[in-house]
Amino acid sequence: MVINSTKLFLSKNSLYHNVDYLKETKKKKLLPVVKANGYGHGMEEIVGALYFHGQKEYAVARYVEAERIRKMELKDIRILVFESIGDYSLIENKEDIDISANNINELKSALKYGIPSTRIQIKIDFGFGRNGIYPSEITELKKIIDKTEGKFRGLYSHLFAVNYEDGLLYIKQFNEIVDILGKDKFEMIHLQNSAATLTYDCKIVTHIRAGMLIYGLQDDGFYERNLKQIFSLESEISSIRNLENSKYIAYNLKKSDCNAKHIAKIKLGYADGFLKSNEGSFCLIGNREYKILQVTMDNTFLEVDESIREGDSVLLYHNVSLAALHNKMTIYELLTILSPRIPRVFR
Ligand SMILES: *Cc1c(COP(=O)(O)O)cnc(C)c1O
Repeated sequence: MVINSTKLFLSKNSLYHNVDYLKETKKKKLLPVVKANGYGHGMEEIVGALYFHGQKEYAVARYVEAERIRKMELKDIRILVFESIGDYSLIENKEDIDISANNINELKSALKYGIPSTRIQIKIDFGFGRNGIYPSEITELKKIIDKTEGKFRGLYSHLFAVNYEDGLLYIKQFNEIVDILGKDKFEMIHLQNSAATLTYDCKIVTHIRAGMLIYGLQDDGFYERNLKQIFSLESEISSIRNLENSKYIAYNLKKSDCNAKHIAKIKLGYADGFLKSNEGSFCLIGNREYKILQVTMDNTFLEVDESIREGDSVLLYHNVSLAALHNKMTIYELLTILSPRIPRVFR
């Protein structure tokens, strides 16, 4: 019997390679984005490995994610929470959590509450319907900043450009805003997510704020060959059935539904975040692709041949871009839905 035969293997070497490569080529510090369970890789695993590699600053979307990192009890770390916290009493004595001021009133109320400016990162909005302080409020913002003794933890914005020229324009605008507010008023300045990191150089920033790239993943249209995918979703054949002896494979796949003679089962199902929409795509056993016939809650059935044995290793999502395409998802969606039931294991 094989127990827990499906695992998400992670390569520490590839992770370290990616972060070192990004820092060296961009000549910037890194603010790795580890939200959404480290993009499905396992947040504690990723943070633990990065911390061991000297990384002290992290970014997440929600307060609950910052709480999970705090439980790891790592010394001298800082966690930026993108989304508004709302209740400042939650973070009063938690010096490792930095908040984001997502509008001018939040900035005022955080300062009034007594949150030190060295724990506040100010978000500027360029009108992507997200959040942040508008360029039209810069004069008011400057007054607040000038009135505040000492530095702020950070200034940032989200660069999302529909086209290259727009991106350049936003970078120029961001530069002007930094000039007005005073670069020295901020401990860190950041603007680029993964796509923008690959597309633009931005002198004024201290950090790049990348998610995707640290995991060695890239959106369609980006081909940075020097990054290495760090995950490998692997299972083992747990049993093989000769179809001639059974009428049904699982609940509703009839013998007549396929002409396969051998059906293999692996212990991975939609409860693991491996959705039914994977049906019809392929996995890799040895060097050959085999069809995924059916996905149930806990198991997946593959069409194999007589060469396949119990215990053989099965690679899922071996081409993550194609897998995302087949599922009509982005790579982000495909990975962040992988459930915590799959053990994350460094190899
Ligand atoms: C998620 C997120 C990122 C990271 O995006 P990638 O495309 O994965 O690099 C950066 N900044 C903010 C504000 C985010 O919400």
